[in-house]
Amino acid sequence: MAVPKRKTTPSRRGMRRSHHALRIEAHAECANCGEMKRPHHVCSHCGHYDGREVVNAEGRALKAVRA
Ligand SMILES: [Zn+2]
Repeated sequence: MAVPKRKTTPSRRGMRRSHHALRIEAHAECANCGEMKRPHHVCSHCGHYDGREVVNAEGRALKAVRA
């Protein structure tokens, strides 16, 4: 089994972990129900996107309709 030759220094360990921080998820208000939702995503509360309902209350996708 391959084994590291040297112990990882606190500095190296910190450099490796510099990418591990969590970021605050982007959010925006839903134009239909006012609930917070992710931008460019269907609203998980009311199922609306771009001013129309695309997913119904049970989370099932509605048939695509050209408006
Ligand atoms: Zn909504």
